Amino acid sequence: MIDSKQKLTDGFKDFIDDALLENLIATTTEDVVAIREVIAKSMELKPLTIEETATLCAAQSPVIIEEIFAAARELKKKVYGNRIVIFAPLYIGNHCINECKYCAFRKSLRTTVRKTLNESELKLQIEALEDAGHKRLIMVYGEHPDYTPEFIAKTVRDAYSVKKGNGEIRRVNINAAPLNEEGFKIVKEAGIGTYQIFQETYHHKTYREMHPANTHKGNYEYRLDGLTRAYEGGCDDVGIGALFGLYDWRFEVLGLISHSWHLLNRFGCGPHTISFPRIRPAHGVTLNEKYLVSDADFKKLVAILRLAVPYTGMILTARESAEMRGEVMQFGVSQIDAGTKIELGGYTKDGEQELNKEQFQIGDVRSMDEIVKNLLQNDFIPSFCTSCYRQGRTGEQFMEFAVPGFIENFCTPNAALTLAEYLEDYASDDTKIEGWKMIEKEVAGLDSEKTKELIQKRLIEIKEQGTRDIYL
Ligand code: SAM
Ligand code: SF4
Repeated sequence: MIDSKQKLTDGFKDFIDDALLENLIATTTEDVVAIREVIAKSMELKPLTIEETATLCAAQSPVIIEEIFAAARELKKKVYGNRIVIFAPLYIGNHCINECKYCAFRKSLRTTVRKTLNESELKLQIEALEDAGHKRLIMVYGEHPDYTPEFIAKTVRDAYSVKKGNGEIRRVNINAAPLNEEGFKIVKEAGIGTYQIFQETYHHKTYREMHPANTHKGNYEYRLDGLTRAYEGGCDDVGIGALFGLYDWRFEVLGLISHSWHLLNRFGCGPHTISFPRIRPAHGVTLNEKYLVSDADFKKLVAILRLAVPYTGMILTARESAEMRGEVMQFGVSQIDAGTKIELGGYTKDGEQELNKEQFQIGDVRSMDEIVKNLLQNDFIPSFCTSCYRQGRTGEQFMEFAVPGFIENFCTPNAALTLAEYLEDYASDDTKIEGWKMIEKEVAGLDSEKTKELIQKRLIEIKEQGTRDIYL
């Protein structure tokens, strides 16, 4: 993992101009007419410029903020329908050579219990996740010489190889330190989905304060260049993110949009996902309260991100409480984790998780089944679909939402089919009843009689013949 040379891609240019972003934030004041124009542009599904995003960030009055929320809700329905994709995080190892001030895994924190899952422990975790009904994982790693690209690739292959009953993992995403191009090639060959790297903060000075210069992560440019190297190494499915609470949230939003434009301009395709974790209390971490993001600002920033990048998936994790997740999900979130345990080995542990074995404290501790039921009751269709990446629809090919009829032809049917599998194999009785009602409604709502017939036939195969893993 440790790339001591930290070589940047040819022609690297630091595309985050702090002065420009600071100036935009300082000089953009609330302008209702301009905000409405920006909203209108976004409703035509056009990505917003940094300046337009700053215009939205300046919204202050409750009436105009409500207009932003309403637009985000509408855009979400238009682009994504009512699907929410479900995944689970799986921490593989928490050894780390870095000193990130906000993280319980930082090297000097001696009271954190360190662990790397071995092959049989990994298998047990995967089996527990499969028993809960999971099909999609994000595997998470500290940064350590042991966690080489080969090691990451092996853990990914191991995860795919574990099958229990009808259970199997069909997509493994990664959240780990940035690799060099060669490293990205190695993990790509193991069949990863998205490679996710959070810049944490796009603000250079804050970045330096949070990540000491003598550490590997202390190199801002190398991290910023990480996903560019990922593309160059053949990983065309990448996720960006910022850790909200380290610096002014508006700056981080503009940083994320700058990053998204950088990838779009260079590779003709922006990031697959954006994450916007808020910093959480963690073992051995004293939070600086100055930039912590209030609930009101958090809702605003989620809605603004939705409008700014209409085609990018948005991930909301269990860092947030069940109530907050329920609220902001409406503004355009497309993926959430469920039944989350972040203690190393946590999926096979009874009783409370221990904070000195976790990276931070989570806010939503509900089980997978509770979350699935709650989604259904709120008219969302939980989806376990992994079709696009298995059909090679990624990167530039990832036309998902740009192609007319894509949702009708692929997303809704695949959501219904994968939910049906979950209901038959893992759901509680109540969830099963709610789920089948939802599936009937979704299938009835399809325009094409041909697709309707096909899906109905497939659903019977799942229910009565026990067929699994059917996707379009
Ligand atoms: N070690 C790798 C790295 O730093 O890139 C992998 C990621 S780390 C295990 C996952 C993410 O957790 C970090 O990128 C950071 O944004 C987030 N994180 C760290 N401490 C946190 C905290 N106290 N609250 C919320 N999120 C936190
Ligand atoms: Fe290590 Fe990542 Fe935590 Fe930083 S955020 S201390 S790199 S695990």
